[in-house]
Amino acid sequence: MENHCCKEGFAGGVYVLPPLPRELSEYEPVLDAETVRLHHDCHHAAYVAGANGAMTELRRIAAGKEDANAAPCATRKLAFNLGGHLLHCLYWNCICSDSKPLSDSALVAAIAEQFGDFDGFVRLFKSAAIGVQGSGWAILAVEQMSRRLMVLAVHRHQDALVGGMMPILACDVWEHAYYLRYQNNRAAYVDAFMRHINWEWVAHRFNNICQN
Ligand code: MN
Repeated sequence: MENHCCKEGFAGGVYVLPPLPRELSEYEPVLDAETVRLHHDCHHAAYVAGANGAMTELRRIAAGKEDANAAPCATRKLAFNLGGHLLHCLYWNCICSDSKPLSDSALVAAIAEQFGDFDGFVRLFKSAAIGVQGSGWAILAVEQMSRRLMVLAVHRHQDALVGGMMPILACDVWEHAYYLRYQNNRAAYVDAFMRHINWEWVAHRFNNICQN
């Protein structure tokens, strides 16, 4: 399956905004077309530009062309914007209009091992998504040392994202992701998201990470 590693977000030595992996209508069960268009063309694009800008700043510091004290600030800018870029690449792939139940045996087993069963995972993931204060994400990720699955409630694009985590499923709960259709009812948006997860894509990414 294509796009499983989100490599389309980097080309020619810079981060790039990949086109949406599906038609706008494919997001309709969860998201209206105007929300998706603004979110992708404006918000996601800004994170791509920010990540490239931070990389330029870091190179200038390395070359002695900028105050060395600027490194922590440039690093924070990189973490925010590159985190945003990666998570949005995932997000656009995680949603589909014809979601089928998770059937991949390896991912089913990993979810059962960590969360008891699929319902336990859903309970925890929804709790993370609905509970993020302000802007952030609910993320299902593979932790590198243990290869265990973990659910994280991440503020902004990077706070509380443990080092080395490999996200495989990401639900954007910034207001820009849902406000036009759902207003302040984030729970209704999260419910719709959970019913339209592209489990085939998520499982492919999970297996790809765990096999490497
Ligand atoms: Mn977003």
